[in-house]
Amino acid sequence: MTPGPDRTVDLLITGGLVVSPEGTIAADIAVDRGRIVALGASDLLPPARETIYAAGLHVIPGAIDVHVHFREPGFSHKETWTSATRAAAVGGVTTVFDMPNTDPPTASVAAIEQKHDIAQRQAIVDFGLYGLIGEGNLDQLESMAAAGAVSFKLYMGSENPLVPCPSDGAIVEAFEILARLGIRCTVHAENTPLLTWRGDRLRAAGRTDAAAHLEQHIDLAAVEAVSRAGIFAEWTGAKIHIAHESTRRSLPHIRFARQRGVDMTVETCPHYLLLSTDDGARLGDNFMRVKPPVREAGHAAPLWAALLDGTIDILSTDHAPHLRAEKTRPVIWDCAPGFPGVETSMLLMLAEISRGRLTLEHYVRMACEAPAKAFGLYPRKGALRVGADADIVLVDMTRTGRITAADLHSIGNATPFEGFALCGMPVRTLVRGATVALDGQPVGTLGWGRAVTPRRG
Ligand SMILES: [Zn+2]
Repeated sequence: MTPGPDRTVDLLITGGLVVSPEGTIAADIAVDRGRIVALGASDLLPPARETIYAAGLHVIPGAIDVHVHFREPGFSHKETWTSATRAAAVGGVTTVFDMPNTDPPTASVAAIEQKHDIAQRQAIVDFGLYGLIGEGNLDQLESMAAAGAVSFKLYMGSENPLVPCPSDGAIVEAFEILARLGIRCTVHAENTPLLTWRGDRLRAAGRTDAAAHLEQHIDLAAVEAVSRAGIFAEWTGAKIHIAHESTRRSLPHIRFARQRGVDMTVETCPHYLLLSTDDGARLGDNFMRVKPPVREAGHAAPLWAALLDGTIDILSTDHAPHLRAEKTRPVIWDCAPGFPGVETSMLLMLAEISRGRLTLEHYVRMACEAPAKAFGLYPRKGALRVGADADIVLVDMTRTGRITAADLHSIGNATPFEGFALCGMPVRTLVRGATVALDGQPVGTLGWGRAVTPRRG
């Protein structure tokens, strides 16, 4: 891969500090035809047609966000692939996996192909598409994977008729199929009958307040589903990924599943690490609605500890944009659940790095390397090494600012992190060697983003 001394490459990134989970070194990076072709001291690298000077900057792999809702098709008033991938690029995210709860949901080959066409025309970062597991499409999972589904989403906890929870029988059969195909299944782990029963009781009692959302989504709903998913995975040999872990009470059950040999990866999101129900006073209690819920103070510290010790191995965002009007309705059941996050996650974590809560090496492990390894993209993505795609983010740890909704590129920009103080910013994002964001502005060409092709098995 390394070019000879006579060979001029496309791009050199010089003078920066290159970060991996193992450490940080001063090194230059040579890029040619979208891939990293050499890494090392500048006098050993080939000449280049273009040079990016990165003195004083950290150079990290682009973040891989395996949990986003980019809303198209069906909900383009909230977000489009153009707005969402611009937000991703500015936020230092170079690969996204889009969830299937669009309209139509991606529950068939035709729906996967339709979304692929939409994404391919607009995306400025690389992407993968989730297929949906339903009771009626188990015989199509293999053909959906062949059509490009990079993973499958199982809504174990769902009140949404677009994406109903399959029966346990169908879940086990789906796990058997995905185990055979070598595809990891991402699980929204909550217990649907528990959610439905409690929701009905709370509505019947006339409850419309924000606390009712928490009383519906009690920790037990998450704990039971994590545990059951682990048992089903153990029985079938399926690889599973627990989405958006929100409660400290799941952590022993995650550890127990791993002790039994279950291949279970787990993600959490910035809103579970940085917010609690106390933030309702600032944002409005109804605005806080997200599934699973942001819980009372006392969960974030154990979730941080679990993220640092590897019990939780992946940082994602569950980017779920809505219009502000959809988030501020007076009846809690009418408030749209979720927040935008793809543009703010790296910013928030860099601020935490500046405060000493974690290191940039930790961040690269949880936001780049671990998701790439879990979903078969490594080492093509998730690492700065020879042969990898040149998905690269330059970070200026000295730059400060504040999060402001008006600055975000999502259409549904109602962020819960309004006003958060920042220290450290991504200042340039490259996808396969092309700059797609510069100094907080998207500059990528629409359609530059490509569908990723994971390794299976
Ligand atoms: Zn989600």
